[in-house]
Amino acid sequence: MALKALDIYKLLPKKNCKECGDPTCLTFAMKLAQGKAEPDLCPYLDEEAKNILGASTRPPIQKVTVGMGTLSFTVGDEFVFYRHEKTFYHQPGILYAVSDTESDDRIREVISQVRGCKVTRIGIDLLLNGIAISADSGSSERFVAAISTVVSGNPDLPLVLMASEPAIMEAGLAVCGNYLPLIRGAGDKNIEEFCSLAKKYGAPLVVSGSDLQRLAANVTRCTGLGVTQMMLDLSGTEGEFVRTSTLVRQTALARSVPGLGYPVFLDARTTGFSGLITGIVKFASVIVVNPLSRTEMQAALVMRQNIYTDPQKPIQMTPGLYRVGTPGRDDPVFLTVNFSLTYFTLQGYLESTRRSCWLLIVDTEGMSVLTAVAAGKLSESVVKDAIEKFAVADEVNNKTIIIPGYASPLSGRIEEYTGWKVIVGPRDAAEIASFIEEELK
Ligand code: SF4
Repeated sequence: MALKALDIYKLLPKKNCKECGDPTCLTFAMKLAQGKAEPDLCPYLDEEAKNILGASTRPPIQKVTVGMGTLSFTVGDEFVFYRHEKTFYHQPGILYAVSDTESDDRIREVISQVRGCKVTRIGIDLLLNGIAISADSGSSERFVAAISTVVSGNPDLPLVLMASEPAIMEAGLAVCGNYLPLIRGAGDKNIEEFCSLAKKYGAPLVVSGSDLQRLAANVTRCTGLGVTQMMLDLSGTEGEFVRTSTLVRQTALARSVPGLGYPVFLDARTTGFSGLITGIVKFASVIVVNPLSRTEMQAALVMRQNIYTDPQKPIQMTPGLYRVGTPGRDDPVFLTVNFSLTYFTLQGYLESTRRSCWLLIVDTEGMSVLTAVAAGKLSESVVKDAIEKFAVADEVNNKTIIIPGYASPLSGRIEEYTGWKVIVGPRDAAEIASFIEEELK
């Protein structure tokens, strides 16, 4: 069980020496309880206290990394059941499945779908994470050939190898084991063989079991055999998955069954898009799915981004000077804040007018216009700094800027401070078309 701050405090040396970087042992204890500090920062802990605190403060769901290099991804290391309690940290990897019974041309087609998939939202590129190769042919040679088709030219793409026969899995690992693929196939009957492969290739292992009790026991067996990087296979119908993943998350957070404190793997090939969405929402950390339509893929990536965004921090746009259409030197400059909802709403209305313009986004720490004005986060100095930093004067002939209606109290001060002429725009972005029609002919 996780210790509370006062329980942790009782284990500390109480010297208040500040060497851990905190002013007192009590504040250090509070940070340990919140998972914001490591016990090693205190040099005066005895071994017993270190062991107790290490077990109590390590993440309830272990961190696991799949693949190598820039496209590798990390999952697990989560601390809460509901995202509003803190945040979810590591978004699930989504991998498209191919079968070794498919032609090499089809496999290459799926690779290019994964490679070509990119949705840019709020200045962030949303990507698929890799390829899962399933040994359905029953032939080591064909499995190796399919893996070779994927790996050749794509060694950076994270992989999941799926084979229940240890000899076939070993043949596949001999081709790509250095890239640390996730290996799936370990169950009640072949745990020892799969643990040997996981250790030999340093690959993370997906473990299954006929029920949760057996699954936890299998994981404990793997731990005893020296495997540390594991995931729990909870694949099944959507209903079963929701039930078991919920139970596993609750159990892991309570630290009551050590064998369930690992990230969750979901094979959604039979449940498709609906299963993928269920997996994203209900705690899956790696999801394998058959290739989706572009619309489905975009919806899934956006859903994943929304759920794995810190709910306590507004989603922010990167401040800067953005183009709407193909603006020239005589087109207007609109100013707004970096609260993403404001940006996307305004951008949509501006695009619908078909009038090219510039959009200057200033940093208000993600606050909306009204809040930013009230909190002093949108001010004449913020506007001046943004105009200078993003060299707006180099792009336009007229030093005129259109500010949101809710920022009208600042118009005079912005004019004085920046030397730019200020026009007060509408309060509501929906009125932008009529504003342009009437004021900017
Ligand atoms: Fe207390 Fe240890 Fe921090 Fe010193 S280093 S203040 S003894 S917790």
